[in-house]
This record gives sequence, structure tokens and C-alpha cells, in this order.
Amino acid sequence: MERIYLDYAATTPLDTQVKTAMEPFFGTRFGNPGSLHSFGQEASAAVFGARRSIAEAIGAAYEQIIFTGSATEANNLALRGAVRVARRSGRGRPQIIVSQIEHESILETARSLESDGVRVLYLPVSSEGFIDIEKLKANLSEQTILVSIIYAHNEIGSIQPIAEVSRIIRDFRNRRNMRAPAAVIKRGARARTRKEKGMPHAFGTTYPLLHTDAVQAFSFLPADVSLLGVDLMTLSAHKIYGPKGIGALYLKNQETVAPLVTGGGQESGLRSGTENVPAIVGFGEAVRMASRRRAKEDTYVSALSLRLFSGLKKIVPGASLNGPPLSSRRLPNNLHICLPGVRAGEFLIQLDRAGVSASAGPACSSRSAAPSPTLRAIGRSGNYERQSIRFTLGRPTTSREIDRVLGIIKNLRQ
Ligand code: PLP
Repeated sequence: MERIYLDYAATTPLDTQVKTAMEPFFGTRFGNPGSLHSFGQEASAAVFGARRSIAEAIGAAYEQIIFTGSATEANNLALRGAVRVARRSGRGRPQIIVSQIEHESILETARSLESDGVRVLYLPVSSEGFIDIEKLKANLSEQTILVSIIYAHNEIGSIQPIAEVSRIIRDFRNRRNMRAPAAVIKRGARARTRKEKGMPHAFGTTYPLLHTDAVQAFSFLPADVSLLGVDLMTLSAHKIYGPKGIGALYLKNQETVAPLVTGGGQESGLRSGTENVPAIVGFGEAVRMASRRRAKEDTYVSALSLRLFSGLKKIVPGASLNGPPLSSRRLPNNLHICLPGVRAGEFLIQLDRAGVSASAGPACSSRSAAPSPTLRAIGRSGNYERQSIRFTLGRPTTSREIDRVLGIIKNLRQ
């Protein structure tokens, strides 16, 4: 039986070119990048090459890329690491702002930090899954150390206005910084004390920081960190046809986070542990390929999504998207769709038996019977959720596959 995979938001297959690039590092080029001999130097050069490729792809400098064991770990490093630095200054209780529809690796981390005394605002979203900008503006304060907003959503595909969020944060920082009293320019101990009293932001002039999780966005959307105006950004290899078990955090300024994993001081001391050289090499190759193909892939996948959606609407009257409409601020490969009269759990099993792999939502939450926080946040929990299925398309998807899926669904509905 031909099997059709439509769950590319969960993970993507390893591209053969990526696999080829990785292979020598499982074999003869096995050195530890920390070793000074030629084996080590070969591995170190390969890690450097990948780091430089990823940096170039997002308009950063190579030393601003920190490799981690996953995007989950990168998100943890961003949030927990920033809180650690802020706390060291002893200037009161930090606040972080995250949207209600962040990936679990942000939401769970925020909850954990909250139980540890950090104030957290969970920013609400509209019925299409866009953050409430006015609420964000109203809640930025001199205690806000970090705002973390997902760039493009893994479940419902909504694309957030990250550059606009960045402008709002910049304006806020500038207004705060202008409030610094003239006394701050005086020298001496007394002046320093006054400077501290007049500190425009409790934790320093570079706060609040802006972090975005660009894991799902990277294949389709511009990812230049200067254009986006972000201080931190998370990436993952296995969503872009690279290997599993490798992620990265872009850091505008290394001093804004403290490490969670300490030891031998790899990754500028921000993530100790011998580097996963084959995975890093694969990540670099996958990023180069994704950057080159971005525009083409967007056009290609958009057309296929439209074909699938139009076909589904003919088979299931009343079918509607959860999240924004197609061809708007929505990831081109994402169809999270409510199919009235369909029981999603059973339907997914029937589809799988017929050779079609789709999902009800994120793979990491599929073991839990709890309702999706995202669907709840956009007002689509309960019946909507029980009738909703997520199809996510990818680079290998073909129009033949889409037509076959539509044929299978038509048969199952009869
Ligand atoms: N962030 C988003 C938006 C995701 O979709 C995922 C994966 O599902 C992650 C983070 C976690 O990625 P990883 O599997 O590399 O930990």
C-alpha cells in the first residue's frame, strides 16, 4: 500500500543531500571538536561551517548561534536563561509575557517559572489566532524582561507580526531610556546610586528582550533577525528536512542568558557537552537548502493546500479552517480543519489504515487527552476540536497524493 505522509509539522524526512553531508561524521571524521589534534580540528571546522551557514541564513554573526539538543531546549534556554540573568541583578520580581498559544516547550517553561516566583502574562489571541497587540502594549512594564511570541504556529498556522511586536518593544525601551535623569551622566559613587534609582527599566536599558520560536516558520518565511528585530530566536533541524535531536538559539547578546547545562564550556559556555557533530553538519546543510528553496516551496505548497482544502469542502459541506484563512497570514502548508460530522479520533485511525498519516494536533501533546490550549484560546474547543484534523504538507507532497487523499476521504465518508 502506498503510504501518504501529511504530518510535516510533526517532523520531516531527512533529505538525502543532508544525509550525505552527515555520513562522514558517523565514520572516519569522528573527532571531538574540542580536541587539538587533526581529528578534532576537522570536526571543529565542520561545526564552524554549519554555524556560519545558519548565521548567514538569518543575518547573524556565527558567535550568535548556540547549538542545543532540540528546539525545546533552546526555548528553555531563552526563557530560563534570561530569568537567571535578570534575577542575578537582584532588582525585584521579573515578568515575562508569552502568548496563550505558544508551543508547550514555552508554555510549560513559563508555568514552571511562574511556580518559581516569576510573573507571567499569557497574552490572549483573536479567534484567528493573532496576538492581542493592545494588551501587549498595555502590559509592558519596567519589570518585563522578556516577551516570547511564536513566529508561525505549529497547530493552526497563524503568522504573528513579529516585526511589529519588535517596534512596540523598541518604542517602549526608548521611552524608558529617555526618562533617565541627567544625573546619570555624572561620575562617582553617589552618581551611580542615583543612576540606579533613575534606571528607566528595573533590569537595564536592553530590556524587555524579544524572543521568537521560528521552528515552523523557517521553511516559508523571512528569517532575518534584524528585519524581525528579535533578540533571541529558536530553530530546529528536524522540521526542515534535517536530523532530529538538534536545535539552535540565536542570541543577539550572549550576556542576556545564563546557561542551564554547565560543564566543559562548549557553545561559549552557554551549553556544555560535546557537540553532536553529524547533527550539526546536517542542520547546516538543511538550513542552506531551506533558505535557497523558500520562495519556490511557498508557491508549490500553497497550491497543494488549496487543492486539498477545496476538495475537502466538496466532500464535507461546512468544512472550515481553524485559524486564519488560506493565503493570508497563515503558513502555506497548514490545514487544521474542522470537518462537521466527523469524529476526528476514529477518522484518523481509518485514514491511517487506508495509508494516510495526518494528526489531530501537535505530536508532543498527542499522548495527552487534555484539550488543546490553542483551540481553547481561539474559541474552538469542545465539538470543534473533536471534529478537527490537521494536515500539514511538505516538500515531497505531490498533487497525485492530494488527489488520492481526497479519493480515500470520499470513500470513507460514503
Ligand atoms: N516549537 C515549535 C513551534 C514546534 O513545532 C516544535 C516541535 O513540535 C518545537 C518547538 C519543539 O521542537 P523539538 O522537537 O526540536 O524540541
